[in-house]
Amino acid sequence: MSKLEFTITQSDERARTGLLQVNGRQVETPALVASGDELEKLSPLQLKQTGIRAVKTSGLKRWLKYDSVTEKLGDLHQLFQWDGLLFVDLETEEAYRLAKPRGKKHDGVRFHDPTTGQLKFWQPATALQIQEVLGADIFQSFDQATDYYAPVDDLKAGVKQTNDWLSVVVSQKEQALGSIVGGGLRDLRTASIEAVDEAGLSGYRLSGIPNNLDDPEFSRIINEITPKLAEQKLRYLPAALSFDQMLVAILAGVDLIDSNLAAKKAANGTALVNQGASALHLDREHFRFDSQVIDRQCACITCQAGYSRALLHSLITNHSFYGEQLLLQHNLFTLNKLMSSLRQAIKNYQTKNFVQELLQNQ
Ligand SMILES: [Zn+2]
Repeated sequence: MSKLEFTITQSDERARTGLLQVNGRQVETPALVASGDELEKLSPLQLKQTGIRAVKTSGLKRWLKYDSVTEKLGDLHQLFQWDGLLFVDLETEEAYRLAKPRGKKHDGVRFHDPTTGQLKFWQPATALQIQEVLGADIFQSFDQATDYYAPVDDLKAGVKQTNDWLSVVVSQKEQALGSIVGGGLRDLRTASIEAVDEAGLSGYRLSGIPNNLDDPEFSRIINEITPKLAEQKLRYLPAALSFDQMLVAILAGVDLIDSNLAAKKAANGTALVNQGASALHLDREHFRFDSQVIDRQCACITCQAGYSRALLHSLITNHSFYGEQLLLQHNLFTLNKLMSSLRQAIKNYQTKNFVQELLQNQ
């Protein structure tokens, strides 16, 4: 175990570049955390070739499947032969979604496992232990997942409970992020931030921002939260965002962003082009005899191998997993390259212009 080290290397207004180092692994930020089950879809070499250096994988689902013998799985870096950064997802939102109102306890959340029907109790201490045994590089504190638009009293109770649970990860505080909750309410979010600061954790996990939030509300809340965070600490946004929201988050000064966009698009037969700002729906008929590669400028394995749109169309319409893999590699490469261009734009103090141009070319 080693202490998480994060250094900001450059700022352009609120956007910043940084270097994150932990357990001998290193990631330049802003960066994406691939959260579309990539470890289970690509080989370590394929994943490495996309340039992605951080992934998130399920903790709750593994615990539901293996229960008290989860530790026998060991470190997932070893299991998947993955040498990049690893986040183990607590999926508290899923657990609370499955729980009945009386399942919300002061020491965790009780719900029936949808697969086996068994009653399970997902608790902060268990969640930390699962992150430890599965080899997470960065730990996350447990949060009481509450609906973004829930009544104020419910959100208040969620903040209090989440703050109380920070004590569970204090033993790992040099490598742990504290959950910031409170729906869309500024005062509650502020109370949450203060509690994480008091606990002396290494950074923030901006929780409870749902993926169906509309763009203006997303922009409001993210720009309200980030100026209140300690400048030198790491900011992680574990939400499945749209392309535009991803850019808004980076402009607001977020360092690590979950993204399942590449995987979601690949599963739908869609290739991201134009730095991720537009898409080719390769399942459509007019690609049937298109001999061009997805993108002539692209240096990904799929485009470099010369695989045509016609081949991808044929694989996708035959529901071939190989077709999905080829698209996933291209999409991850494209989004990872976008992050690298954004870091360059921040270093050149051109972030806003870069983002505006990108959005205009959609
Ligand atoms: Zn490509």
